[in-house]
Amino acid sequence: MPTALLSIEEARAAVASSCALLPAEPVALEDAAGRVLAADVRAGADAPAFDNSAMDGFAVRSDASSGPLRIVDESRAGRPASRPLAAGEAIRISTGAGLPAGADAVAPLERATEADGRVTLTEPVAPGQHVRHAGEDLRAGAVVLRAGTSLGAGGLSVAAAAGAGALSCARRPRVAILCTGDELRPPGSPLGPGEIHNSNGPMLAALAAQEGAEVVAVETVRDTRAETEAALAAALGAADVTIVSGGVSVGPHDHVKPALEALGVAQRFWRVDLQPGKPTWFGARGGQLVFGLPGNPVSSFVTFALFARPALRALQGAQPLPPRERAVLTEDVPRRARTQALRVRLDAADGTLRATPTGAQGSHVTASLLGADALAFVAAGEGVAAAGEQVPVERL
Ligand code: AMP
Ligand code: MG
Repeated sequence: MPTALLSIEEARAAVASSCALLPAEPVALEDAAGRVLAADVRAGADAPAFDNSAMDGFAVRSDASSGPLRIVDESRAGRPASRPLAAGEAIRISTGAGLPAGADAVAPLERATEADGRVTLTEPVAPGQHVRHAGEDLRAGAVVLRAGTSLGAGGLSVAAAAGAGALSCARRPRVAILCTGDELRPPGSPLGPGEIHNSNGPMLAALAAQEGAEVVAVETVRDTRAETEAALAAALGAADVTIVSGGVSVGPHDHVKPALEALGVAQRFWRVDLQPGKPTWFGARGGQLVFGLPGNPVSSFVTFALFARPALRALQGAQPLPPRERAVLTEDVPRRARTQALRVRLDAADGTLRATPTGAQGSHVTASLLGADALAFVAAGEGVAAAGEQVPVERL
């Protein structure tokens, strides 16, 4: 067994213990999608603020709704009726409009016939029918969103309904991405002999942006010690988190580790019991974090998901790790000398979660990232993890 390698859990613990919460800042509600709340949000008032109608129809008294009712007023959304309702009367009402004083129910338009300024209801009316009560959604003073919540569309809707105009959110982590390699050419450009397109740059930038990061730089860096050190120094001057791809193995052109050491970034770990992703490096300088991810695109993707993503979440106060679920492999997977993080597609059959590898799993096979919803962990060993075996999975 490769005893010198850290387990995924040990490596994650090292990352977690290096993450300090970023300061909070006010963020306008309309800019807060994808941000993480730094404080609880409480409802400033009941929502809805007043009893209102769930239907278009007539506001009535349920105890006096038989016989023709005189239509005496209208309550529209945003324009309440100007008078209360008395027995023998109805007030025309729209969905969301305030229930007039004196009314306790709404008869829908579809259950009413109108003639000569009067309405006759075709069905009896129960008290409270089609009425939405004040505070039914959110209660004044109640916590409606917790600190640490990542704001999606639903969260923004609740925050707005709660009366918030600005939200206290963690500052976005500034992320610099450095792709090392003399072979790298920008996407879309022609390739010379031995050159490849830089696929990690756009991939890592997208992954970081998905976690709410502000991507301050995406650079390519040639494989010289001087250029590597200069690029890292610039990144450390601008970023909370520097993510380097490539150059962290043991080859003669791998300059990242000595350059980081020269810049005072202390190594927290190097090399993890993981395939793909064994050469992953992590270090810190004060509160600044540096991830050295292996250059193979799938390795970069997997190690970002396993180590850098939890850090970006922790810096913002969000839950760092996805829950571990269990899924059944749908095919045999050969075991390897290290723990494998397979890219899998999940589906559920008869209440059982199933994991199907997304094709060839080589660390250079970018196509295995397509359609992957999760990583499945297959323990190291001999033989195969057989179809039908349960393995832990983490959704991506
Ligand atoms: P390295 O980790 O630098 O030894 O690189 C391992 C493999 O990943 C090599 O085949 C590199 O050409 C490839 N690679 C490194 N960086 C990138 C990148 N930014 N985009 C695509 N492939 C890369
Ligand atoms: Mg390289």
